[in-house]
Amino acid sequence: MTLASTMTAQLINGTALSQQIRAEVGTRAAALSARGVTPGLAVILVGEDPASAVYVRNKVKACQEHGLHSVFEKYDATMSEADLLARIRALNADPAIHGILVQMPLPKHIDSTKVIETIATAKDVDGYSVQSAGDLMAGLPGFRPCTPYGCMKLIESTGVPLKGKHAVVIGRSNTVGKPMALLLLQANATVTVCHSATVDIGHHTRQADVVVVAVGRRNTLRADMVKPGAIVIDVGMNRNDEGKLCGDVDTAGVRDIAGWITPVPGGVGPMTITMLLVNTIESAERVARAQA
Ligand code: NAP
Repeated sequence: MTLASTMTAQLINGTALSQQIRAEVGTRAAALSARGVTPGLAVILVGEDPASAVYVRNKVKACQEHGLHSVFEKYDATMSEADLLARIRALNADPAIHGILVQMPLPKHIDSTKVIETIATAKDVDGYSVQSAGDLMAGLPGFRPCTPYGCMKLIESTGVPLKGKHAVVIGRSNTVGKPMALLLLQANATVTVCHSATVDIGHHTRQADVVVVAVGRRNTLRADMVKPGAIVIDVGMNRNDEGKLCGDVDTAGVRDIAGWITPVPGGVGPMTITMLLVNTIESAERVARAQA
């Protein structure tokens, strides 16, 4: 038996970290409400996609449980783009609303870029707009996309400083991979981004102190691709042959090599909603500061 195969990674418990951060959210929400600013999130769902309905329900429930005011608006899949944009403009102007989230994907006849760009930057708590992405790239304050923001909190919770570490991100979507790479760079890691055209991903990940996998394909990261002791963050959400939720990492193999690993479920998933609450609180706090 090799030394590496005797190691067992510590699980990074996203559920526990999430509970801790949500408790802080509750305290901040109560303090804001006492000052007359109840933090409010508007969630819009267009159409009947069952997975989207579950995500939206969980977001609304999380708001209700932690002292945020939430407005849930559900529309038929036939809603026109013009009507949706008009609704967003009304929410932009509503002082009771500090964050606006339009659940993706939208029906094909609606231009999602136009929708995202119509949300006021000050209420873009998903951090998906071009302005928010530019703020992140320039290192300016702004809302960070919730999933990579949550991944950063999970990495921070290990206590391992990122400065000078080599981080590899697999996946380059605008919502996860790219902002993840920028956040790691901002934390002074040396960052490599891999994607579907990368030749020999293992060559890169074997040198990595931190690997974040956001691909959407089971077993993208296997034990022979991981440096002993590395931090492994598994963003993927897939179904295995038994229909059970699983990530992009071969957890059973990788946990014998890595130092830390996030489970699926119970890792990145709960943190995504938690960071949405944090962004909404921060938005409301900005308003309260401006009123003071
Ligand atoms: P996406 O938009 O489909 O992007 C996937 C990325 O993976 C792309 O950049 C793609 O490369 C890359 N890729 C595809 N096949 C690859 C391969 N064989 N090797 C290396 N890279 C490959 O997906 P996403 O929205 O970023 O989400 C990724 C995963 O995370 C999905 O499973 C999603 O469900 C999950 N997710 C989870 C949460 C959560 O809260 N837990 C939140 C968001 C997403 P190209 O750019 O070259 O095509």
